Amino acid sequence: MIIKPFSLIVSCQAYNNEALRDSNVIARIALAAKQGGASCIRANGAEDIRIIKKLTGLPVIGIYKDFECLKKSCAFITVRKNQIKEIIEAGADVIAIDCTRRERPESLKELFDFVRNNYPHVEIVADIADVEDVKLVAHLKPNYFSTTLSGYTDYTEKVEKPDINLIREIKKVTDIPVIAEGHYKMPEEIRNALIKGAHAVVVGTAITRPHIITKRFFEAISDLSENTKILGIDIGGTWIRMEKISLDRKILGRYKIRNPQNKEKILSIIYEVLAKERDITHIGIASAGRIDVESGIVTFASENIKNWTGVNLKEEILKMANIEPVVDNDANAATFAQWSISQEKNMVLMTVGTGIGSGAIVNGRLLRGKNGGAFEVGHILYPENKLICTCGKVGCIETLIRGEKLRKTYESNKEEEKEKLASKYAWLIDMIKMFVDFEKIYLYGVIKNYGEEFLCRIRKQYEQLSSLNNGQDILFSNLDEFGGAYGAALESLFLGRKKNE
Ligand SMILES: [Zn+2]
Repeated sequence: MIIKPFSLIVSCQAYNNEALRDSNVIARIALAAKQGGASCIRANGAEDIRIIKKLTGLPVIGIYKDFECLKKSCAFITVRKNQIKEIIEAGADVIAIDCTRRERPESLKELFDFVRNNYPHVEIVADIADVEDVKLVAHLKPNYFSTTLSGYTDYTEKVEKPDINLIREIKKVTDIPVIAEGHYKMPEEIRNALIKGAHAVVVGTAITRPHIITKRFFEAISDLSENTKILGIDIGGTWIRMEKISLDRKILGRYKIRNPQNKEKILSIIYEVLAKERDITHIGIASAGRIDVESGIVTFASENIKNWTGVNLKEEILKMANIEPVVDNDANAATFAQWSISQEKNMVLMTVGTGIGSGAIVNGRLLRGKNGGAFEVGHILYPENKLICTCGKVGCIETLIRGEKLRKTYESNKEEEKEKLASKYAWLIDMIKMFVDFEKIYLYGVIKNYGEEFLCRIRKQYEQLSSLNNGQDILFSNLDEFGGAYGAALESLFLGRKKNE
């Protein structure tokens, strides 16, 4: 077996129009790969293979890319006998053959027989795209399968990249060793591939194509400049708030407009501000409800904003401003804003208003969940509560502690009622402490109007629930009412945006 188990194979290739296209340069890259720990090289074309062999002494998996076949979307990696001859004579110890079920100039059987009959010492890697390819080729007994072409054929366009699961699928149908290759970018991905049963791993572009590596870095910053101006939008049940900030977080403008409770009217309010603020480069938008951050769709909004479920905020903003916004839940945005100031690794923000909103940073990342519905702590059921919530459930704690309850409790001015309300907050915060072992929890929204006096009640009751609870971990957020808008702006700044050219 020429390719040793658990080995790192580095693919060293450059196309004709690329800066490194010179066989001596490619061989130098291969030598650098060897110095870094690679124990085998994958290379294209006779000249590269010859010089790499001479310079590194490592075993080489040779390929011959047939660009005529590539143009026609046919199988294109080493697809003719004369190509096999050329690269083996240049010194390839192993050859890789495109074994996808696409059209090909010469049959696979011919190619395999040609190698076996003329070069019995040479091993064959079957480059495949999916497990069907494997089943069709297994009878030819290649020495290895490689997942090289997963994602590159029309029948695998949509697979996850890298396709680590394919390794397991292949192992279910054959005992032939599987090499993990294709789209591997990160060290943890290749480790994962070996743990999932890969015999060896191939990394190419992520190591050996500096123009693409550069592009990844460049794209991470190319939207930033001294002219960067960010608009954060916060669509709440009662108010729409917008804040414009500069790159150094200076507030350049603020808008506060009553929510007209109508999709078209809400969007036209945003449109008018954007028409006025023409130098905006980034937009972050936060909304009440559950938000799918990926698509920008409001997957669920309670009756606090009418007919808001299903609105695609990403698309709407794109249409208006030609800027792809970052979209998030309003409480998550406020959490992000608080976190940008306080910087704990684990923290929580809970906002009290029409409802209860909440966000958590766990190990330095916002907790989101499948549909953006993670950490909606207001909708945890409180024992024996029979009140119907705006979300449709019966008994959510939100119905007992939201802003209106606070107001009524303080209007009644009964000591006992205040203590009862504080105990419910303490109960919820203790529960949150069990989910997210937070360093600090910040209370935000109208609850701040009730001051230190109410905060002290919560702290005391929280401490009574457990000797491990420290009341000083509960704080008022120092964000003002534009915290959600500010947080949305910061999210778009940190996560970046794509401008549609
Ligand atoms: Zn609820």
